Amino acid sequence: MSSRAVSFREEVRAWLATAPRPAGLHDYGPTPTAADVPAGRAWQAILAEAGYACLHWPERWGGRDAGVPDQAAFAEEAARAGVPRQLNIVGPDLVGPVLMTYGTPAQQAAYLPRIRTGHDMWCQLFSEPEAGSDLASVRTRAVRTDAGWVVDGQKVWTSGGGDAEYGLLLARTGGPGHRGLSVFVVPMDAPGVVVRPLLQMDNESKFNEVFLTGVALPADALVGAEGEGWAVATATLGRERLSLGANAVSMFRSLDDLVESATVRGRFDEHLRDEVTDLWIRVWLLRATWERAIASGEEPGAPAFSVLKLLSSETQRDIGNTGIEALGLDALWSENNEPLVHRMLVGHAQTILGGTSEIQRNILAERILGLPRDPYRAPA
Ligand SMILES: Cc1cc2nc3c(=O)[nH]c(=O)nc-3n(C[C@H](O)[C@H](O)[C@H](O)COP(=O)(O)OP(=O)(O)OC[C@H]3O[C@@H](n4cnc5c(N)ncnc54)[C@H](O)[C@@H]3O)c2cc1C
Repeated sequence: MSSRAVSFREEVRAWLATAPRPAGLHDYGPTPTAADVPAGRAWQAILAEAGYACLHWPERWGGRDAGVPDQAAFAEEAARAGVPRQLNIVGPDLVGPVLMTYGTPAQQAAYLPRIRTGHDMWCQLFSEPEAGSDLASVRTRAVRTDAGWVVDGQKVWTSGGGDAEYGLLLARTGGPGHRGLSVFVVPMDAPGVVVRPLLQMDNESKFNEVFLTGVALPADALVGAEGEGWAVATATLGRERLSLGANAVSMFRSLDDLVESATVRGRFDEHLRDEVTDLWIRVWLLRATWERAIASGEEPGAPAFSVLKLLSSETQRDIGNTGIEALGLDALWSENNEPLVHRMLVGHAQTILGGTSEIQRNILAERILGLPRDPYRAPA
């Protein structure tokens, strides 16, 4: 590790040790629950004030142009300190960079500073009941009017939808397939937007159904050109894969928890030691893959980032499963907030969101290995 990287890590660790902590703040992961949002917003403002918000953004927009080692160091130190890396993933990691590429100067000026400071939380309005893996078949429609657009349709699995100020919406403005799609900014308090929370199996309620009925949007709500929605959506998903892949860097903390939990229960036997060693190696390989993917200079939509998302989510899932072995019977009656039980439940979700493991494997097969296209998917 370079001495500069070490000094950044030390700087962050020292700052985290004395930084003000909003009441109730804890490491809630990529998305806060409604109860976590006030502390998460206050924390994002503190990060922005101290220069630790949106590290990967360019300096022009208040970031630090941070490379992989500094981002990794920050994520690890935040995990060690038991605080989230940021308010939520959608604004800083997905929408911000996408607006920098596809947004107009007016959109950038209106939205980017407020994402960085936590004034605005964003959600991602992509998935629909009949369009998850096959995102190009979304049915929510935006129709052009004299004043702008009117949107009708339904979205589902919208993380943070009930607390967000804005949503990034994928909607159909033209014919079927990829070319008929466009992306819009939707104020979540616009008339006609109804958000209904969904209760998850971990007893949390982070995602929602969103119903859009006659929602009027101004002409300048369009992000990118009309019909350019697939490119914007792909860039967003690429960013999501990159960001989910980057979660790997904080997994060392879970491995430490796992070893401790097994040791205090007298369960850290040879079998568990082998599993932990294997997971530890996988986390290091992930970090190296993350660095290589970024250094390659490829666009986040590139298939290389599917490898990162696949490896990261499946490693998280496997850490969760090994954590259950470490807890033994205690896993059955522990509270949902037992970190290792929570990690197991969340680990499975990670293999679904942002494109399932099967879809990542299809992308790798078709776009990296050059195998024939999936016969069940419509031609591009
Ligand atoms: C925790 C969590 C948070 C989420 N947050 C958001 C959010 O904020 N915004 C948002 O828009 N969406 C969100 N999602 C939705 C997520 O993007 C979708 O769940 C995902 O894309 C899969 O779509 P689906 O659930 O409709 O499953 P389906 O597409 O119906 O897939 C069902 C199963 O079939 C498999 N399958 C489907 N097609 C193929 C194929 N061609 N080849 C092989 N296997 C296939 C899948 O891998 C899966 O196992 C979230 C999901 C989760 C779990």
